[in-house]
Amino acid sequence: MTAQTVVPLRAAPRVDRLRAERAVAELLAALGYPVEGEHRAKTPERVTSALAEMLTPTAFLPTTFPNDEGYDELVVARQVPFRSLCEHHLLPFYGTAHVGYLPGSRIVGLSKLARVVEHFASGLQVQERLTQQVADWLHGHLGARGVGVVVEAEHLCMSLRGVRARGALTVTSALRGNLRTDARSRDEFLALTRRGG
Ligand code: ZN
Repeated sequence: MTAQTVVPLRAAPRVDRLRAERAVAELLAALGYPVEGEHRAKTPERVTSALAEMLTPTAFLPTTFPNDEGYDELVVARQVPFRSLCEHHLLPFYGTAHVGYLPGSRIVGLSKLARVVEHFASGLQVQERLTQQVADWLHGHLGARGVGVVVEAEHLCMSLRGVRARGALTVTSALRGNLRTDARSRDEFLALTRRGG
């Protein structure tokens, strides 16, 4: 499978703040915590702001440059921090992403690797999809010969409720192009993503 999936950047959703605030107040009342007293007076507003911030993808200019020097070794950004919101429980999951690519015709500013992670993390997500979207976007957008993404995250829905598996990290990976098909490149990338490696 060599076809490259072109993943577009996501548009920011339209936020109806008043409706959201009313809904938060209703949710709190339904859970037995009606909005009353000074502490809760602005809670619907604050919850709306916090959710809107976490759900709105930050726009960025995906500038790329021609690979004039023909650099053909791995470029890896390790331990890029991110936070996202689990689509199943609306609870945060957060951790680090390791993002690497084997340049083809274009290269990208290093800060953009972190921006891509942040962009796709800002929304309702599941970790598997986040990992794939980052990999597919880079693969499609850069014409990279290979892309690798490893995401390690703690999910509050797993660590603070349910099984309460505190500190358990969920690890997902997505490999594209040469990093998928060529064992040497794949091993090199995975070694670079290892803690302390
Ligand atoms: Zn969850």
